[in-house]
Amino acid sequence: MAKKQFKAESKRLLDMMIHSIYTHREIFLRELISNASDAIDKIYYKALTDDSLTFSKDSYYIRITADKDQRTLTISDSGIGMTKEELEENLGVIAKSGSLAFKKDNEIKDGYDIIGQFGVGFYSAFMVADVVTVISKALGSEQAYKWESKGADGYTMEASDKESIGTDIILKIKENTEDEKYDEYLDQYRLKAIIKKYSDFIRYPIKMDITGRRPKADQENEYEDYTEEQVVNSMVPIWRKNKNELTPEDYENFYTEKRYGFDKPIKHVHISVDGAVRYNAILFIPESIPFDYYTKEYEKGLELYSNGVLIMSKCADLLPDYFSFVKGMVDSEDLSLNISREMLQHDRQLKLIAKNIKNKIKSQLLSLLKDEREQYDLFYDSFGRQLKYGVYSDYGSNKEDLQDLIMFYSSKEKKLVTLDEYVSRMPEDQKFIYYASGESIERIEKLPQIELLTEKGFEILYFTDDIDEFAIRILTNYKEKEFKSVSSGDLGIEAEDKDNNTDTVQEENKELFSFMKEILADKVKDVRASKRLKSHPVCIATEGELTVEMEKILKSMPN
Ligand code: ADP
Ligand code: MG
Repeated sequence: MAKKQFKAESKRLLDMMIHSIYTHREIFLRELISNASDAIDKIYYKALTDDSLTFSKDSYYIRITADKDQRTLTISDSGIGMTKEELEENLGVIAKSGSLAFKKDNEIKDGYDIIGQFGVGFYSAFMVADVVTVISKALGSEQAYKWESKGADGYTMEASDKESIGTDIILKIKENTEDEKYDEYLDQYRLKAIIKKYSDFIRYPIKMDITGRRPKADQENEYEDYTEEQVVNSMVPIWRKNKNELTPEDYENFYTEKRYGFDKPIKHVHISVDGAVRYNAILFIPESIPFDYYTKEYEKGLELYSNGVLIMSKCADLLPDYFSFVKGMVDSEDLSLNISREMLQHDRQLKLIAKNIKNKIKSQLLSLLKDEREQYDLFYDSFGRQLKYGVYSDYGSNKEDLQDLIMFYSSKEKKLVTLDEYVSRMPEDQKFIYYASGESIERIEKLPQIELLTEKGFEILYFTDDIDEFAIRILTNYKEKEFKSVSSGDLGIEAEDKDNNTDTVQEENKELFSFMKEILADKVKDVRASKRLKSHPVCIATEGELTVEMEKILKSMPN
């Protein structure tokens, strides 16, 4: 049989394709299943527009069959099929997309689900197969054809037999080498997992025969082998369902199924946007901290889908660092994908989505804070630190986004309070938002510096987290009220205490003070009389940029 040659460029392209475009070999299955789904979409579309064609819904399916002995993996579909010419054009010419042409010819606008557009996905099969055989019978034709190729050196074509309309793609899976294992692509559980991962929301059933061994009914200690046809994919993604029809349990199950976490999420949001960029998203605020959360290993990100097909498992660009705890997914039909569909061409759409999502998360957290304080406390216990880091690594609008979400322990309330709560309680004569830093609440309460303020009835925020004071320094003020450390030189209240005349005290004890200063020469800058002390004889005050606590933290940090 005469072998037709790929054009030279095609050869190079095919090599490049096989070796460099895709980072994950397993995506070949995603590509072939997507093609099968496109083919069914097309026949479905034809049936909708041509009354002479009638199909029942269950005649649309995709079937995956693995044969370990033959080392073949077959992907069959009941789609529109390909004529001899189409086999030549679509599979013989690399970067020719019959699907894109179909969309154009039929004037199918965006929003339709056809996935194909680049005309390269098919060749990813050569990442795992030595030989690829395509047997196809097109809608409206009597004769089936067989296309076969071993990769870069061309393909053969001949007439073939096939009963029903549709396509079988048969991959002869490569032998294992020392470095590479290909056997996994013949293993039913591995295949099932790959399908679940990338193609769970393909709209047609993906069927597979699953074999196993099970106890015989009614007979003890007796087992039987069984083969059972299963539909592997869930088909309708939860995010395309009507929100009103979904229960909280549905979302929780989705969270568990997707392995976003082992906890029960505190809150979920289901977003459907039909604006400049259309997308659906489901986001979760987890309750507990992932074990690696505060380490370098933790990877933030949301799952990114394009038309129900997984593109990226962790798209980091969708989340700001300070919301890195959020789990979930985004599905958009408006993304410009690059050829491998692993990356995005332009990030304009992505940026828009990310911004939108950030605002959603923020408003969800604010409403949690307002309406479900206990839940918010639970959340804050896990991720509050991350929000404070966010304020500290001030970046664009971080401050504005986060200042209403952070909380500190209050000397008055004996629990965490927001800055807004603090400020709204401030008496008129209080100029500053006071805070005291220390290792623990107990220790802070013993600080001599807080005595005067407490006596005056002023509320003090206790900073027990390393990051607290650093974050607040970045914030500098909240609702125009400046933050003031209790150990700073000027608390802004002393002057009002007229009866306690420190100037005289300072004068009278001048010699004592300079003597003390001499002894403590390299430890203190000055020794002065203070109006601040009540029952304690002495306290440390700072005048410079850093407080004693901050210096301690900086000194303890590795260089
Ligand atoms: P794309 O899907 O981006 O168009 P592919 O390389 O995956 O590119 O496929 C090339 C073309 O081959 C498709 O556009 C389609 O016309 C045709 N094709 C591939 N697989 C099938 C199939 N299972 N049934 C019908 N046509 C197919
Ligand atoms: Mg394709």
